[in-house]
Amino acid sequence: MRRILAVILMSGTVFLAGGCGARGERSLAPAPQAPPAPHVESPAAPAPQAQPVAPRVEKPAIVSREEWGSQPDIARLEERRHTPRFITIHHAGVVWTAGSDPYQKLKGLQSWGARDRNWPDVPYHYLIPPDGRIFEGRSTDYPPDTNTREFDTVGHINVHLWGSLGEQRATLEMLQATVDVIAWLCQEHAIDPATIRGHRDHASTNCPGADMYRYVSDGLIEKWVREKLAGGPPQVALLPALSDGPFEFVPR
Ligand SMILES: [Zn+2]
Repeated sequence: MRRILAVILMSGTVFLAGGCGARGERSLAPAPQAPPAPHVESPAAPAPQAQPVAPRVEKPAIVSREEWGSQPDIARLEERRHTPRFITIHHAGVVWTAGSDPYQKLKGLQSWGARDRNWPDVPYHYLIPPDGRIFEGRSTDYPPDTNTREFDTVGHINVHLWGSLGEQRATLEMLQATVDVIAWLCQEHAIDPATIRGHRDHASTNCPGADMYRYVSDGLIEKWVREKLAGGPPQVALLPALSDGPFEFVPR
């Protein structure tokens, strides 16, 4: 029997296994319209150990700190390190106007934060403009900063979407980028997607805006992230506009 099987395998014939109890009877099932059986190198070779292979989320394309010219105060950042355990989503809270340049926005945010808030770096770890690019902000080695004092930021990775998402709608590209970067972060730092929250879940603020927050509170971001971690692709889709708006998307 083994020799017959070997011959069948080596000849490339589709072998219709009838199961252990088939006793050599021919299967009555119609021959499947299947592509040729895969080439078998050597039927005598031991079967490889069956090991569950965890699906890997590829690192999304990210504009690095070096690319946008970040100049953080490393010495002061080093005073406070943390281990990432939670994901928190923010918006800028400032209306994004068409043609705005995220490179300039980042430089401006960094210098404003240093001057006005005494922050050693931009307060967010990843920042997403309306076209769905992902920019690298503060290193995840360090906790973020916040305007809301009651938000203890230690352990949080801050993901920030540009625009005022109570006055403008998050774009599909922003949602996709949010899911892509969060899934990758959850994988790299072993963070439970159940920890994904909006800033308003931790402090008295409307951040990340009514249009964006519902994707968080409805569990959609978490669901899409889990789908991606499971091998995806997630079916990221926009919800209809809220009845009282906003109605216009963040413009490019
Ligand atoms: Zn926020």
